[in-house]
Amino acid sequence: MKNRIVLIGCGNVGMSYAYALLNQHTYVDELILIDLNKEKIEGEAMDLNHCLAYSPSKVRIYVGDYQDCKEARIVVIAAGSNQEVGETRMDLIHKNSQIFQSIIENVMQSGFDGIFLIATNPLDVMTCLTLKYSKLPPSRVIGSGTTLDTARLRYLISEKINICPKDIQAYVIGEHGDSEFVAWSNANIALTSINAFLTKEDQQQLEEEVKDAAYEIIQKKGATYYGIGMCLVRITSAILEDKNIILPVSSYDKTNQVCISTPAIVNKNGVQEKIFIPLNPEETEKLTHSIAIIKKALDIVDATGIKTK
Ligand code: NAD
Repeated sequence: MKNRIVLIGCGNVGMSYAYALLNQHTYVDELILIDLNKEKIEGEAMDLNHCLAYSPSKVRIYVGDYQDCKEARIVVIAAGSNQEVGETRMDLIHKNSQIFQSIIENVMQSGFDGIFLIATNPLDVMTCLTLKYSKLPPSRVIGSGTTLDTARLRYLISEKINICPKDIQAYVIGEHGDSEFVAWSNANIALTSINAFLTKEDQQQLEEEVKDAAYEIIQKKGATYYGIGMCLVRITSAILEDKNIILPVSSYDKTNQVCISTPAIVNKNGVQEKIFIPLNPEETEKLTHSIAIIKKALDIVDATGIKTK
């Protein structure tokens, strides 16, 4: 079977993902673009194809339709509205949940039997809806979750203490949204508690900066997309190369019956396993709060008549 990716939604986020894919060795054989704006994606496909002479990967890129999902290993969804200045991710719930119902139905009607990778906000709600509409096993519905927030955190810590971000073992978990938080009690560097490197005040300040990052970028340039593009590539390669990478993706939590981010093992099966993390009482409370927010949002979608169950 070819490593075919179908990308639905080719705006800022979708195209940043596509471009990042071409810049890395990703074992993607085919990248198929779907968007409401057909003319734009014809241009995008041409532009991307012009990278191939110098790309490390050999990828067939073209505009397609929902029938192409049948043979896809991964369907990536970045379709829908993004945040305006001052809007929260949750504010997008009505517009994007409507779009999702028809997108997932179209994908499933093709006979798709692969893995969904979701980027659209509000992320955890859209991941839950994808799981419900597709009826695929929970392991095969993945949201980018707090991979981006975790990347932002590691970058900010690395700048503060001058250690490579790849060597910083710290995670943002919970909702990909305003209730997300850093599980500081488990954060470490070189087997040493993060407390040896950062004061509590530093930790609090860095956590705030991570939470505000999207708002600040949107204020300054209108949207955020390069960071999430790289996160989606990382998740894609974990799947296609069966890498067993630990990533804080959003996936179904059986106990709490919502999709939420905690570190998980990602491989060719999707989310192989969510890892149990021992949180302190304060962090447990924060996770419970995140779960409640996502559940409440799903109730709001339900109330609009869009099925969530
Ligand atoms: P954008 O407006 O640039 O692109 C959205 C694209 O979706 C457009 O090209 C539009 O034509 C297309 N689209 C809309 N409805 C569609 C449908 N029914 N079928 C096919 N295509 C459709 O927006 P963007 O900046 O790319 O953001 C996309 C989503 O990603 C937003 O919800 C945004 O909030 C989210 N986002 C998520 C993260 C994350 O960490 N998960 C980070 C940044 C942005």
